[in-house]
Amino acid sequence: MITIAKNIERLSDRLLRIERQYERGAACVKLLAVSKRHPAESIIAANKAGIEDFGENYLQEALDKIQRLSSIRVNWHFIGPIQSNKTKAIAENFQWVHSIDRLKIAQRLSDQREPSGPKLNVCVQIKLSDETNKSGLELVAAEALCDAVEVLPNLQLRGLMAIPAAEPDFESQRLAFRALAQEYSRLKPRYAQFDTLSMGMSNDFEAAIAEGSTLIRIGTGIFGPRS
Ligand SMILES: *Cc1c(COP(=O)(O)O)cnc(C)c1O
Repeated sequence: MITIAKNIERLSDRLLRIERQYERGAACVKLLAVSKRHPAESIIAANKAGIEDFGENYLQEALDKIQRLSSIRVNWHFIGPIQSNKTKAIAENFQWVHSIDRLKIAQRLSDQREPSGPKLNVCVQIKLSDETNKSGLELVAAEALCDAVEVLPNLQLRGLMAIPAAEPDFESQRLAFRALAQEYSRLKPRYAQFDTLSMGMSNDFEAAIAEGSTLIRIGTGIFGPRS
């Protein structure tokens, strides 16, 4: 648990250095702690060290933790692939969803979100490489899906997300992120609250920040390797 606090402290320092180096505003990049495959105790430790946003990929695992941790105030982000039969529980238990890649899922989430409460914040997930099995939408289709999501009553369209293929070096990492960042900047004026570019993980977050990321999703770098 001490290591989690230490990792967060080191990461926050590094984040500030990187923001300065690439002339991004101080603290303009949000840190999302990806807690999948880590126990509730690790989330408590990270929360004590100042983290308020947690990302989960697997619904049942996430629901168990959300229930166990109902007494601490954190924001839950669903970042994994979504099947239709999972949308109700996601709409009812999360504050954010980063992995919207088709309209049907967005419509179900909006229909199943309690209209009297806060809207569900969502990002549209883009596929940046041609690997056939990766989820996400082609970049050219982003605008049409964003337009459709923007008008759904119980969702708030917040931005774009991507998980690029692992690249061997910093410059190729930057190049992959740049394509997404350009589309994000182009689309930003079209939508009321489009302020989130969710890109960068433990191994490539510096390149993501250099290219304009506003939210990095860090698992291993905070909690260590997953079992
Ligand atoms: C697991 C996961 C992460 C975190 O990955 P690390 O390499 O452990 O930082 C980030 N985003 C998504 C969508 C993930 O599934």
